[in-house]
Amino acid sequence: VTIFSVYIDDGCIVCDACEEAAPDVFEVTDDTCFIKPTVRIDGGFDRNMDQSGLKPEIISAMSDDILDAAEACPVDVIMVVEDPPSEAAEAEEAPVPETPEAVPEEAAVEDVEVGEGIEQLLTVGDRSLDILFGSQSGNSEDLSAKLAKQAKGYGLEGTVHDMDGFDFNSLSGKKRVLIVCSTWGEGEMPDNAEELWQQASADSAPQL
Ligand code: SF4
Repeated sequence: VTIFSVYIDDGCIVCDACEEAAPDVFEVTDDTCFIKPTVRIDGGFDRNMDQSGLKPEIISAMSDDILDAAEACPVDVIMVVEDPPSEAAEAEEAPVPETPEAVPEEAAVEDVEVGEGIEQLLTVGDRSLDILFGSQSGNSEDLSAKLAKQAKGYGLEGTVHDMDGFDFNSLSGKKRVLIVCSTWGEGEMPDNAEELWQQASADSAPQL
């Protein structure tokens, strides 16, 4: 693969995995990840959504690290661009401007009501998000803490729980549950996840 550029799409969960894989290329900020100015032709410092090319010496020295970082990203938001955008392709893909059409009054009213419905859905009622982590070395625990922090941005109240000692029967009363669980060794589950898994997979387990 010959890399031309790399950028960060929406949805970064600031887990630091890319910075660990390629610290000269990625810098994780409070709420996203930036491509460093020293590796970019345009010298910018942002997510590089304009897909500025990487410097030739960076491409030859760090392509493997960049691909490793993209592979390590748990939410697949590191976008590796292999070819520079050609002007012809851009012209071909450029959308044809549409003539704005008058929106019938009834449809406009309906849109407002739908918008209000979505806002209500996102802001009212039970806003809890229970995040259970199964972690052997601490990475899943750290990721869970970051997810709980990020949840605030979506109007949710995240609570992090160790899977060890978590009351399995309480799951049926939870509104939203997110399980973050790693594997280690040859695919074994973390020690702290084992008891909950045994309870969940037992024949006598309640149907949730
Ligand atoms: S690995 Fe992905 S999610 Fe994690 S900080 Fe980097 S871009 Fe964000």
